[in-house]
Amino acid sequence: MSESATAQSGNFIRQIIEQDLAEGKNGRSVVTRFPPEPNGYLHIGHAKSICLNFGIAQDYQGHCNLRFDDTNPEKESQEFIDGIQQDIRWMGFEWSNPKFASDYFEQLYQYAVQLIKSGNAFVCSLGPDDIRQQRGTLTEPGVESLYRNRSVEENLDLFQRMREGEFKEGEHVLRAKIDMTSANINLRDPVLYRIKYATHPRTQNQWCIYPLYDYTHCISDALEGVTHSLCTLEFEDHRPLYDWVLDALETPHHPQQIEFARLALEYTVTSKRKLNLLVEAGHVESWDDPRMPTLSGMRRRGIPPEAIRDFCERIGITKKDAFIEMTVLENCIRETLDPQAMRVMCVLRPLKVVIENYPDGKEEIFSASNHPKNADTGKRAIPFSNTIYIEQDDFMEAPPDKYFRLAPGKEVRLRYGYNITCTGVVKDEAGRVAELRCNYDPESRGPGRRKKKVKGIIHWVSAKHAIDTEVRLYDRLFRIPNPGASEDLAASINPNSLEVMHHCKLEPSAQNLAEGDHVQFERQGYFCLDRKPASGMRPVFNRIVTLRDSWGKLEGKK
Ligand code: ATP
Ligand code: MG
Repeated sequence: MSESATAQSGNFIRQIIEQDLAEGKNGRSVVTRFPPEPNGYLHIGHAKSICLNFGIAQDYQGHCNLRFDDTNPEKESQEFIDGIQQDIRWMGFEWSNPKFASDYFEQLYQYAVQLIKSGNAFVCSLGPDDIRQQRGTLTEPGVESLYRNRSVEENLDLFQRMREGEFKEGEHVLRAKIDMTSANINLRDPVLYRIKYATHPRTQNQWCIYPLYDYTHCISDALEGVTHSLCTLEFEDHRPLYDWVLDALETPHHPQQIEFARLALEYTVTSKRKLNLLVEAGHVESWDDPRMPTLSGMRRRGIPPEAIRDFCERIGITKKDAFIEMTVLENCIRETLDPQAMRVMCVLRPLKVVIENYPDGKEEIFSASNHPKNADTGKRAIPFSNTIYIEQDDFMEAPPDKYFRLAPGKEVRLRYGYNITCTGVVKDEAGRVAELRCNYDPESRGPGRRKKKVKGIIHWVSAKHAIDTEVRLYDRLFRIPNPGASEDLAASINPNSLEVMHHCKLEPSAQNLAEGDHVQFERQGYFCLDRKPASGMRPVFNRIVTLRDSWGKLEGKK
């Protein structure tokens, strides 16, 4: 067993698997599956299931099937089938051949015929409303359909004619014959097949009857030799039906369904349907908008897949639904990026500073580590001249006590450079601070430098050498921890989830970054290069995450 399997054997599913292996069950093999419906792009919730299913297969020398659960043709598409595969690969997992529930349509049909023959299924000709009404409630038993006792011959005939397209949608369905008085509503003669005239992304118009999830899933698992079918808690009440179908069919193999808690993350939604609403209504640009909790959005945002895998490991697998704080994910991202991301300085809201006592036209090159904790990453060259940009926030004309940055008459240190003292403020016609005048202290840098107590250290970029960039500051998409509780998602969208800074000034050592590369803008956060710019265009950087949690502070203040 690999190290990570040992490390994680605390999770209850791994304990079950280890016990099964010890008892020699399933010929000591482990087969799992990840079964997305191709009706949208994958999100962070799916990542939990992916890491669990593929992770278990890796750690117990088994395999994990990727199986598309494609039984709702109207909502599914090839675009989603392709996107889902790209996202799982990006997460770092592989599979042999993708499988599709639709590959089993013929087998599923033959199994249904078998259920009819053994008296376990019947064609019901009630309309959908009647079926719903007769199902009963949690406190009242259901009512048996008046078609329940059709003969096997009649059922076989009708089912075949359903397949052949003789009937309209909703005219007949195939139902299991179980128990209308069961305390578990899922066992009250559930529908197994419905008529639907829709073009399927793979089988096109070959079928006009489609099997339902509960019927399809257990048989697909059995046909693939899945040993442990891991699903989320809402399927716990469906497990008796899962087992009933496989028992009724006497399939040679009977997988074990085990349920675990869904991932719910604060300040976002983890439901393809709700994410689709955001895309459709234009609240975000696309499925891969960097604010989306989709894997494609997180990739575009610059979040490394290792950080997501680490997050999934940290939250663990339990049987209890709970919201995970966004800071847990954000901390995983910071911890993954900190050792990897090279440091550069970037001024997001530039304020020009002219250093009057530094000779015009003179240039110096300062040297700084690419990474303060990793000498192997080498050094970068930082040019300095008499005109630099600093952050508007790093200057205050009338500062309060204990303001350690720049103010008239005050001195700060330029990171890697000299100390400067503000000697004058130039204002525009509207009275706003437009430029600063400063003097530098030539003795304040270098090996023999004069030691001085200067508390503030600020970042800066030489005006002449700066790369003009656009920086997109992304923040949480929602203002409240549980936006999914209301259908009106738009009402809780964070109006400041995207701020575009058009005139940022970036240190020139960043000029050779490739698309998707990560950097730390010192004092600001982690950023990634969105796209390599076309020639003549400014590069665009996405903020992945700030250096520290600022939401915690805000919440504390409430
Ligand atoms: P959605 O409501 O977003 O469509 P789903 O469960 O219907 O979610 P599927 O495509 O059917 O989406 O899911 C594929 C697999 O991923 C299932 O096994 C499902 O249980 C799992 N999964 C989906 N969402 C989560 C989540 N939030 N946490 C953990 N597992 C999840
Ligand atoms: Mg679903």
